[in-house]
Amino acid sequence: MKIICVGRNYVDHIEELKNKIPNDPVIFFKPTITLNSSSIFKMPNFSSNIQHEIEVIFEVGKEGKKIDESDSLSHISRVGIGIDFTARDIQNKNKKNGLPWAFAKSFDDSCTISRLLNINNISDINNIDFSLSKNGIKVQHSNTNLMIFNIKYLIHFISQKITIEKGDIIFTGTPKGVGKISKSDKLEGFINNEKILSINIY
Ligand code: MG
Repeated sequence: MKIICVGRNYVDHIEELKNKIPNDPVIFFKPTITLNSSSIFKMPNFSSNIQHEIEVIFEVGKEGKKIDESDSLSHISRVGIGIDFTARDIQNKNKKNGLPWAFAKSFDDSCTISRLLNINNISDINNIDFSLSKNGIKVQHSNTNLMIFNIKYLIHFISQKITIEKGDIIFTGTPKGVGKISKSDKLEGFINNEKILSINIY
């Protein structure tokens, strides 16, 4: 099982971090040890700027390689939301020096996910409304119809290079509104107005 993440997939977030719109999906991975499906996120002590990035996530239900876009959806079993917790201070330093992001994106609990919903309960995966609130105030809100590269294309693109396996989780990028979290914050995530994620920051 692996965790595949897509960066820079919403124009408004690319603009807020002053990045360039990519020609191809930007892909990175998180080790499975970073996965957290509990209701607690413990702040790491090596960063002074841990930020939330809410993302729609898809679970792979069937192995495949070199998948045609027309067949992509048959490889998805469930959908949910995840928070791609990011040490922005470390990421900015690494980006400035042209170095990889590894510890900016991969640390304990940095891949915190909601409960997952059966894909059959979603009427249109290219029209999923999702949002994140912090301490009761909505801070991120978007729709999967605003992705630069949609999930069908992402599965096609990723599977050209690496086999996707049952149980893999795909993070599909965050919209604007990313921000710093602090101890005692409460984060809540919604898909189509249904709350499916609730995290207390310790
Ligand atoms: Mg992200």
